[in-house]
Amino acid sequence: MSFAYDDSNIFARILRGEIPNDTVAENDHALAFRDISPKAPSHVLVIPKGRYVSFDDFAANASEAEIAGFMRLCAQVCASESVGLEKGGDGFRAITNAGAHGVQEVPHFHLHIMGGAVMGPMIGTR
Ligand code: AMP
Repeated sequence: MSFAYDDSNIFARILRGEIPNDTVAENDHALAFRDISPKAPSHVLVIPKGRYVSFDDFAANASEAEIAGFMRLCAQVCASESVGLEKGGDGFRAITNAGAHGVQEVPHFHLHIMGGAVMGPMIGTR
């Protein structure tokens, strides 16, 4: 499957250092930074450094090293934001939006990790 990546998207610009971000953590394969419009007391976005449009693109096409690096950074964020369950955090919601039906705004794969309060129902009622 081919996923057309737009190099002008805002997260690509963040990765190129063209616009600032509030970095939480980083490794060779992924970057975690605070959402500019937080929907929870803690709202961190984790993105791969590679050119992946969406979750399904990343899951299908990223290397094992990229997937491992991304997931380990997610674990680091959960721990550092004190929401992860291992060390007694109160929990979090991790979501990713893809495409039009997912209402994805930025076409570079990102995982939202949100915590610090009860997140409420998983999705709005239809
Ligand atoms: P999504 O709808 O899943 O594509 O979410 C995109 C998210 O990116 C939104 O929650 C925005 O608030 C966030 N966002 C957009 N621009 C920036 C930026 N420059 N820095 C941090 N977060 C951003």
